[in-house]
Amino acid sequence: VHNCDSRADMGVLPHALVLPYPAQGHVIPLMELSHCLVDHGFRITFVNTEFNHDRVVAALQIDGTMEQINLVSVPDGLDQEEDRNDLGRLTEGLMKTMPLCLEELIRKSSEAGDRITCMIVDESIAWALEIAKKMGLRPAAFWPASAQLLATLLSIPELTSKGVIDADGAATRQEMFQLGPGMPPMNTAHFVWNCIGDRRTQCTVFNCILDNNRAIEISEFVICNSFKEIEEPVFASAPRILPVGPLLTGLRPRRPAGHFWPEDTTCMSWLDEQPLSSVIYASFGSFTIFDRRQFQELALGLEATGRPFLWVVRPDLTTASGDAYPPGFEARVAGRGRMVAWSPQHRVLAHPSVGCFLSHCGWNSTMEGISNGVLFLCWPYFADQFLNQSFICDVWKVGLRLMPDESGIVKQERIKSKVEELLGDEEMRSKALLLKDTAHRNISRGGSSSQNLQAFVDAMKTSTK
Ligand code: UDP
Repeated sequence: VHNCDSRADMGVLPHALVLPYPAQGHVIPLMELSHCLVDHGFRITFVNTEFNHDRVVAALQIDGTMEQINLVSVPDGLDQEEDRNDLGRLTEGLMKTMPLCLEELIRKSSEAGDRITCMIVDESIAWALEIAKKMGLRPAAFWPASAQLLATLLSIPELTSKGVIDADGAATRQEMFQLGPGMPPMNTAHFVWNCIGDRRTQCTVFNCILDNNRAIEISEFVICNSFKEIEEPVFASAPRILPVGPLLTGLRPRRPAGHFWPEDTTCMSWLDEQPLSSVIYASFGSFTIFDRRQFQELALGLEATGRPFLWVVRPDLTTASGDAYPPGFEARVAGRGRMVAWSPQHRVLAHPSVGCFLSHCGWNSTMEGISNGVLFLCWPYFADQFLNQSFICDVWKVGLRLMPDESGIVKQERIKSKVEELLGDEEMRSKALLLKDTAHRNISRGGSSSQNLQAFVDAMKTSTK
């Protein structure tokens, strides 16, 4: 992992304000990046929304140093009981409330003799870069998903002029669209702004993307959690997007990790007892929700595989109330199946017992999976997960799709047969191991991502020299 310690050539200690979009899949990679920056001599002020700050602090099991990462919070503009998964409302709340609070935070830091020198903003709220400009901080943007997705967002004017989408972002017709040669085609109905919430939410998110596209011009750097070889055509056509991934500091027990739920680490000793490459790890990130019927079918499918499995059952994974498991399920799978509310996923995927990853294909999960050479069974839920599935199955060829039947349900028999097909595919396994090597080469000394990170660090430090 990035371990180039450049504290020696530092002038004044550089101090970065790091601002993630308030969702789990954004907070974790920005926290990973923060740990990398600490290794490079930075101090970090990490800004969560108050709502998420409380969760991150509650989930902390403090067993490491935190002194270089200061966790602070600002309001998100929503009432306490409002639904933070309503991304339209959340986006509006943030745009209304955050700017003044951030300005005050930066000002107070200066008054206290603890000047913030640069601002690293999640591209999903790139409009906040205006604050960096106003307050005289070096501005940079971080993108926590595929470079192709960002390139797609940036090409919205072109999509509109070609008539692929209308002025509000709605697809004029459902078709497969290819952004450029060598890039996996995307279903226009799956453009990220078209598959988030209701039409009102989609319009809000679309307009926010347009604001971000304007604001990103201010940014001196646009870095992303990807690496050259997995998206080569995109990096060739959009050289401004600089890959610094995979960000994998979570393999080391570092705190804070930025999790919204406490990690149940007891599954690690359970994994130690399982045979090599035998375990199905099933995890669907922080947003996915299953209705009762699909949840039960998934449980029965895992049982039907006859293999050991580790299944992350978040407290809000299903809409079913009360005991959601099929009758007798827990007793039947006892010992062979393990359910946890939240896992230490980086460490789980790096464990030699894990054989495959039944995943919703969130970008972080995708990067974590390929960096550990696991095979994927893909079950996308929303947003960019369909595109990530195309990368996994069609471009890198390290996974299979798990498709629902005509009734829209993924049935237990299909889960069982796809697991068998996947685990029997030796060619796919060798591809996955090659990809793992490539990922690790990128972040070792002299690797492409490592060099990009160094260039970014050097530039972000200069104002303090
Ligand atoms: N994660 C985790 N434990 C779990 C499930 C998920 O630590 O039990 C982490 C996972 O490692 C990843 C993040 O949560 O870093 C989820 O991000 P992703 O982009 O995969 O999905 P999202 O939650 O955004 O849908």
